[in-house]
Amino acid sequence: MDIFSKIAAGEIPSYKCAENEEFYAFLDINPLVKGHTLVIPRREVDYIFDMEDDEIARYQVFAKKVAAAIKTAYPCVKVAEVVLGLEVPHAHIHLIPMQSEADVDFRRAKLQLPQEEMQQIADRIYAEFVK
Ligand code: 5GP
Repeated sequence: MDIFSKIAAGEIPSYKCAENEEFYAFLDINPLVKGHTLVIPRREVDYIFDMEDDEIARYQVFAKKVAAAIKTAYPCVKVAEVVLGLEVPHAHIHLIPMQSEADVDFRRAKLQLPQEEMQQIADRIYAEFVK
């Protein structure tokens, strides 16, 4: 099982922001900004565009709902949706509350927030998530 599958299964701890039967959302451990969330399919699939049409459609609808929760919890101009990176071989969408485009610059230094604050951020998003 890859690391993100273990996170979705609860075998590795994470700061949960939202979930349903098929998808799971949790805070990026090294966020670009507060509220930076990863959305993953529970199913092990590496490349997002290997997903079937109906699965990727449901994935996007779930990400849309998570983005709405982030935007309510962390008011911003827009929530950016980004798919990039080769680090973890499990499809993941980055959702990043954005005040300006600089907030989505992945070359920037990442934040390292205390555990308590990470939990508070996740709880705030989770409280706003509507299935
Ligand atoms: P990418 O493949 O998109 O470049 O990077 C994977 C992302 O997942 C990075 O932003 C990294 O901080 C995040 N990440 C990697 N491992 C973990 C982990 O174990 N837990 C969490 N919450 N995030 C992780």
